[in-house]
Formats: sequence, structure tokens, C-alpha cells
Amino acid sequence: MTSSGALNIQNPHSEAWTKVRERLRSEYGEATYNSWLKNIDLETISNGHVTMSLPTKFLRDWVINNYANRIRQIWCLEADDIQSIDIHVKESPETALPDNTVETPAATRNQNVRPISRTGSADAASNLKSQLDARFTFDNFVVGKSNELAHAAARRVAEARDNIPFNPLYLYGGVGLGKTHLMHAIGHALAENAPDKKVLYLSAEKFMFRFISALRYKDTMTFKEQFRSVDVLMIDDVQFIAGKESTQEEFFHTFNALVDQNHQIIISGDRSPTDLEGMEERMRSRLGWGLVADIHPTDYELRLGILQSKVEQAAISIDPRILEFLAHRITSNVRELEGALNRVLAYSDLVGRAVTIESTQEVLRDLLRANDRRTTIEEIQKRVAEHFNIRMSDMHSARRARAVARPRQVAMYLAKQLTSRSLPEIGRKFGGRDHTTVMHAVRKIDELRESDISLSEDIDLLRRMLEN
Ligand code: ADP
Ligand code: MG
Repeated sequence: MTSSGALNIQNPHSEAWTKVRERLRSEYGEATYNSWLKNIDLETISNGHVTMSLPTKFLRDWVINNYANRIRQIWCLEADDIQSIDIHVKESPETALPDNTVETPAATRNQNVRPISRTGSADAASNLKSQLDARFTFDNFVVGKSNELAHAAARRVAEARDNIPFNPLYLYGGVGLGKTHLMHAIGHALAENAPDKKVLYLSAEKFMFRFISALRYKDTMTFKEQFRSVDVLMIDDVQFIAGKESTQEEFFHTFNALVDQNHQIIISGDRSPTDLEGMEERMRSRLGWGLVADIHPTDYELRLGILQSKVEQAAISIDPRILEFLAHRITSNVRELEGALNRVLAYSDLVGRAVTIESTQEVLRDLLRANDRRTTIEEIQKRVAEHFNIRMSDMHSARRARAVARPRQVAMYLAKQLTSRSLPEIGRKFGGRDHTTVMHAVRKIDELRESDISLSEDIDLLRRMLEN
């Protein structure tokens, strides 16, 4: 939370804008950010509507199609009063772009024809390293059930010398679950252990961008040669080129050429090869040729492990209950989980007080609500009723028989733990009960968990089901 205070005095939104940009940079990475997002200018903010601009129509359309949603979400997170955004093409035609932006032909051309370091292995390795996020190493990757296959496969590929274990390695999973992290980790390991190998890592988006500029500058030979001469090619987020025919075609040829030479290809996607709509059938089947490893959503233990490892790395002391709270409540993905931890730490740094559950809830109100949307009280009631074999209507009924009262208490307990609803709100959802009844249920179950192992296991099981 270090933003320009001076700007802040003039315009309360410039600080939010700085944060939006920081966040975009960290979510999409340096490369994407520099190519597409860096040139966005903030124009005006009024009545909850943000207007931004980009210098060309091409850039604007691209950003609208690919990033607008996320940009809007981030704005809403950073500034409470923002509801909508718009990006238009900057008015003045003479607006010159800085030299290093994507639309400058000279820069594009340079980027396009720059050889993939042939000047020696040390260079190649450092060139590779400069494209990788230094934090994304195997050492920093916490392994759990949901990602152990992907992790083991990535290690295997990173350690292979001449025998390629499987080709391609296809990693897939939802957003923020560690695909990019694993690919960078492979890159780091190769730069260390096999500095003589030519390794190229880039997003499918960048691949497409380079291909398009190669076409534009009639330089496809260089392009082909660059990509076909690498020992290891990593393409991140391949779903991006689904539906983009000529890029796919080119990718297909690159792919075949590398496989023919027995060079390693590693690809990530947000879904399995067979589910890649808009991808040609021959490409889909080829992507599934080697090893397909999926990364599942995290479970509670892994989330807690990741938080602990972050805290350890940063040598920060924090009440372990806060970490447990975050691991329970931020279930969407690891990126959000990390973001939540950072926000909590930044807050405590700022106010100079230790973090408490209350302050955490306060600081993360928006995030917690967003994560809650996945677990509703109704869903909790339904699952719990099914599990204990009672009727859903018993969640609301006045019946006090233990066989229904206990499951009802369990549901209240889980509602308190897994959602950010207040006690009165929860009470209302349980047939209009008083908040003291909910409080009593929460205490009671807490107490029982200590002595009743089978109840405790039931609750853990239900929680896991509800969190995923
Ligand atoms: P993806 O590419 O699948 O969308 P990323 O690799 O960008 O996700 O991961 C998002 C964030 O979560 C990164 O900061 C990454 O370091 C972190 N992360 C994901 N999985 C793990 C893990 N198992 N251990 C440690 N950090 C992780
Ligand atoms: Mg990624």
C-alpha cells in the first residue's frame, strides 16, 4: 500500500488508479502488461463511471475484448464508488507512443527479429531468466493433492537431459492455480541445470502477436526459424489462440517441427485439450499426445500450506488463526488468496497494529463476499440435510427433536464459518430464528467437536464439499 500521497490530495482516484495498474501488472505479468495495458490512460471519473483511453483502435479493441472485464472488477475492488468503465480511442491523432510500445513499427520489428540469443549459453540462460518471474520457482511451489501430478510432471521435464519423458506436457486448470508458476519453475530449473539449452517461454497471446507482426513485416522466415530452433518451447494459456485460425495453423506447424526433432514442448491451458472449443481437431488431438496433467481446485490444507510458506518466506509473524480463516474463506484460487494475505499485511503495516480476525474481515469485506457467492446458506442447508438424511424443510421448522436440531445447528455453524453473513441474517434464513439461537448453535458445535470425533469428521467433510 505504497502509493503517491501527493497525487491523492488532488484526486482521490489517482491512488486507486495506481493500484489498479499495479494489480493488472501483477496479475497479467510484465510482458502482457507492457504490450497491452501500460498505455491505458485515465481520462475522467464521474458518477461511478471511469473513462480511460488508448492511443489506437487496434489496442483499444484488443483490450476491450480481452481485459475489460477484469479491469472493471479491479476498479470496483479498489474504489468503492466505481460501477462501470469504458475505454475509448484517444482523441488527438498526434499522440505519439513511447518507443517501446507495441504499435511502434520499429520496436515491433526489433522485437520480432531479435535472435533468440545465439551468442553463448550464459546469455541464453540470462535472457530466459529475465523473462521469468523470480518468485515462481519449484522451491516456492507448495505441493498438495490437487497439483501433485502437474508438479511431478513439471519436475520430470525440468530434470530430463536427452530423453524427453513426454511430449508435449500439457498442464491445465482454472485460473490462478499455478500453471504459469510451474512453467516458470521449469524455466528457472533449465536455466540453472542446462544453460546450453535454448528455452523459450511465452504466452500464446505473445506468440500470436509476434506472428501477426511477422506477417505484417513480411518476416515470417525469421519467425519460423526462431521458434523451430529452440530446444524447449513453453506456451502459456494456449486457449487464447482458439478461434484464431492462422495463428493456430502456424502453431500447428511449429509444434510438429519441434516434436519431429524431439524437442520438448510444454503447454498450459485453462481446460483439457478435448474441451478447447475453436481449436482445430488435429491440434486438439496433438495436444493430448503426451502427458495431460490437470491442476484441481485447492483444498483447505493446500491453501493453508501456501499461506504458511508465504509468511515464512517473508519472515512475518502473524496469528495462525488468521491464516486458517483465510484458508477457509478465500477458496476461489491461489492468486486471490495471496492477494488477500498481502492486503491484510499491508493494512496492519499501515495502521501499526497486529492483525485480528475482525480487522481481516473488515479489510477483505469485498473479497469475502465475492468468495461467499459460491457458498450460499441454502446450499449449506441442502448439503447438511442430505448428509444427515433430514428434510430441507427441517432447517426452517420449529421441530426440536435432536435428530433434526443437531444437523440444523451444524448448518448454522457452517453458515457462520463459510459465509460472511451476520448472526441475525443467518437466523432469518433458519425459519426466522433469533441471533442468540445461532450464537448458541455455533458455541455448541464448537464444544461438541472437541469430544465427538465423528461429528467433527462429518463437519470437515461437509466443509470440503462446500468449499470446492
Ligand atoms: P495460473 O497460471 O494457473 O492462472 P499462476 O501460476 O499465475 O496461476 O498462480 C497464481 C499465483 O498463485 C501466483 O502468484 C503463484 O505463485 C501462486 N501459486 C499458485 N499455486 C501455488 C502453489 N502450489 N504454491 C505456491 N504458490 C502458488
Ligand atoms: Mg497463468
